[in-house]
Amino acid sequence: MKKYDFIIAGGGMAGLSLAYYLTRSLLRDRSILILERDQKNRNDRTWCFWEKGAGPFEPILFQCWDTAAFYGPGYTGRLGMGDYRYKMLRGIDFYTFVEQQLTQFPNIERKQATINRIKDTPQGGFVIADDEPYLADYVFDSTYQLTLDQPENHNLLQHFKGWFVETERPCFDPAVPIIMDFRTDQHDDCRFVYVLPFDENRALVEFTLFNQRLLSSDEYEYALRHYLSQHIDTGAYQITDVETGVIPMSDVTTTETPSEHIIRIGTAGGYTKPSTGYTFSRTQRYLRELVDNIAKTGKPVRRVPWLKRRFALYDSIFLNVLENNRYPADALFTRIYARNPVRVFRFLDEDTTFPDELRLFTTMPTRPFLVAMIQVLRRKFVAR
Ligand SMILES: Cc1cc2nc3c(=O)[nH]c(=O)nc-3n(C[C@H](O)[C@H](O)[C@H](O)COP(=O)(O)OP(=O)(O)OC[C@H]3O[C@@H](n4cnc5c(N)ncnc54)[C@H](O)[C@@H]3O)c2cc1C
Repeated sequence: MKKYDFIIAGGGMAGLSLAYYLTRSLLRDRSILILERDQKNRNDRTWCFWEKGAGPFEPILFQCWDTAAFYGPGYTGRLGMGDYRYKMLRGIDFYTFVEQQLTQFPNIERKQATINRIKDTPQGGFVIADDEPYLADYVFDSTYQLTLDQPENHNLLQHFKGWFVETERPCFDPAVPIIMDFRTDQHDDCRFVYVLPFDENRALVEFTLFNQRLLSSDEYEYALRHYLSQHIDTGAYQITDVETGVIPMSDVTTTETPSEHIIRIGTAGGYTKPSTGYTFSRTQRYLRELVDNIAKTGKPVRRVPWLKRRFALYDSIFLNVLENNRYPADALFTRIYARNPVRVFRFLDEDTTFPDELRLFTTMPTRPFLVAMIQVLRRKFVAR
């Protein structure tokens, strides 16, 4: 059996990003096999993220905005974004772009196959896909399903349904996406609408919840219809496409390296930011670090500086506040975004200094966060 240097299990966002960074590194000649069950020829999702300057996928961005709006109780307006730009990348453009890059490398094979098993062996990472065996020095696995039922963790879901709409009247401001609009019934929950405008008549309008219970299709649609009729002067409109998704918002401790030859990446590797669900830019950052490390040391590990681990604690505390409804979510997000221009984006990117974080914490309601912190620390240290 041929032994590859690397097998990438799952050619979605993380798998293809890894392959892309490998082709741009000293490891570009390694033998690589990508196993993916889908054709990846549909726009199955869109990614939004903020970033300073030009990123690796700048030429294929679908939209890029230098401001964003927010609607919450007591605050309506633009958010200070400093040098950050809010960017939108369509899945199909990303898959096509990476595919074109990979075809220039005869050492990279792609197979459409369903993976049945991934296991570590003394010889390397072993994969069975469509009943065929494959072996590699390392298997990078983005297909592993996280288990989100441990009671010691906070396990929220970010779930949403979005409509790509085309309206009769010009009603969107193409220069201003709305990243959170809380003018929707909260039902003691965290519910908001997200509007990404492409021009005056076309936008993606998405109804999003952070909680533990998925809704029926009708419930999402009712909220979308209601929002459009109440807040946007659309005239008649057509729904040209639909996007749905569920993203884990969990502080479950994931093992990025479950065994010697297997490394989990992407959502499977716990790359999703627990308190926001944003995954795209963290994946890019983490995978660049991983590839750099392999090139330098031969070891596929990502070192997380000890001090950076404080952000995981902040995430748990935030999830605890949300999960236990310790403060109304619409008011909470309004305080965070409205009172921390620019800083909030740096904080969510985990790029703040400790004094910066203290400044942000002073804008938060003290009691709910104190209670949450005590509970989180007790769970982490006392309940062990
Ligand atoms: C609709 C949607 C919108 C999102 N929007 C954003 C956003 O705006 N910003 C953001 O930061 N994050 C967003 N996310 C979250 C996250 O960025 C995406 O889920 C992202 O695609 C995760 O990358 P991944 O590689 O971990 O998983 P995926 O991209 O899902 O890749 C996993 C791949 O593995 C394949 N696979 C799975 N099982 C098997 C198997 N047994 N055999 C073979 N192949 C298999 C799948 O087909 C898939 O292609 C969104 C998620 C969804 C679902």
